Amino acid sequence: MIWNPQFECQNAVDRQLLQLARLKNLVETLYSRVDFYRRKLDAAGVGPRDLGSLADIAKFPFTVKDDLRDTYPYGLLACTQSEIEEVHMSSGTTGVPVVDAYTRYDVECWEEGMARTLSGAGATRHDTVQNCYGYGLFTGGLGVHYGAKRIGANIIPMSSGNTAKQLMVMRDFGSTILCSTPSYALFMAEEAREAGFDVRSMRLRSGCFGAEPWSENMRKQIEAELGIDAFDIYGLTEITGPGVAFECECKDGMHVNEDLFYPEIIDPESGRPLPDGEKGELVFTTLVKEGTPLLRYRTRDVTIISHGACACGRTTAKIHRLFGRTDDMLIIRGVNVFPSQIEHALIEIEGTDPNYLIVLDRGPAHLDEVELQVEVKKELFTDETRSLETLRDKIESVMKSKLGIQLKIKLVEPKTIERSVGKAKRVVDRRKI
Ligand code: ADP
Ligand code: ZN
Repeated sequence: MIWNPQFECQNAVDRQLLQLARLKNLVETLYSRVDFYRRKLDAAGVGPRDLGSLADIAKFPFTVKDDLRDTYPYGLLACTQSEIEEVHMSSGTTGVPVVDAYTRYDVECWEEGMARTLSGAGATRHDTVQNCYGYGLFTGGLGVHYGAKRIGANIIPMSSGNTAKQLMVMRDFGSTILCSTPSYALFMAEEAREAGFDVRSMRLRSGCFGAEPWSENMRKQIEAELGIDAFDIYGLTEITGPGVAFECECKDGMHVNEDLFYPEIIDPESGRPLPDGEKGELVFTTLVKEGTPLLRYRTRDVTIISHGACACGRTTAKIHRLFGRTDDMLIIRGVNVFPSQIEHALIEIEGTDPNYLIVLDRGPAHLDEVELQVEVKKELFTDETRSLETLRDKIESVMKSKLGIQLKIKLVEPKTIERSVGKAKRVVDRRKI
């Protein structure tokens, strides 16, 4: 089901003309309305007149996550504050959050991107969409919500958690489309089995899964256990949230909403644009955004892009299932965590050494389990066990408040965590996805 053939099936020449016109407009807007970008463009010696063709975008500077943090909260705003209709922030990261501000038009474009995403999974106005993405600052919940409303489907705004109720609702309201993280879908399948719900015999027929890395194996498992078609969907807060790219029935790469976001793949080392088929870092320019438009934003996500028509009829570029990230960001139960945040938190806790190891595993219930091993100062180990327990509780509560997730803390004796000669190994990821 193609939601908007005009843009999703546009011929390459018309699309490029549209993208170029929008890109020029964007650069003009950034130059005239955002001090940060005026300075950046002046420093790079480029401006709207340097855009003769789409390839000229390579002359323009990148935007990185730190630029967003440095300008928190409204330094990148290209509209007036009264024009903002809604704000969102990146999930869970501590420190300075990354803000996305939406005008009315931005929300409409978001709805459009998500309407296409849900349609890619076969949703129509006759469907009942059970939305298990979290509602709130996280973009997943409201993004799906807006898209489902746009297509006129019945939307059940469940938000995340409360699995027993999710299953009851799924059965009683005859949900046909499930939207959740892939790991939560598997968790639901398991809970269903234990609680005696036969999801396969319910009306559920497909699902949109994203916000974290997953694999073809996980897809097969979700499809088999829930008796549905599982689709990969991609997005990030900085660009708009979900609705940036999505799979069609061919399940062979995610279609990028190219009239809204201009994608590039670059070599993460040199910053040079890479051709179709070569693995590199995904970069997006928002083509029509009014609130917080971004020029050449480096996502740190690694993938491959391909252009050309798809068997589904869409002509938009496709990105391959994500291979990973160029930085060390971990996504744990949907929350973005950098090992450096754990390190910073530990430094402030008396009695610990900044030697630590994060061990990630998928628990029996398919949810991420995290053990944080921390070396403790020698004195404490010879001390009574009570002080060790107090320390463990302290670390646990500090991590919970700083990272927003529960970690299992294991205190270990000094020098037990293996030292490496090169870059310290801080993460052991045993999650098989
Ligand atoms: P969201 O609200 O979409 O989760 P965040 O900004 O919190 O946005 O996280 C975005 C990051 O989540 C992306 O940069 C990417 O690393 C990861 N992500 C989102 N969708 C997928 C997906 N389908 N596959 C793999 N990783 C994904
Ligand atoms: Zn397709």
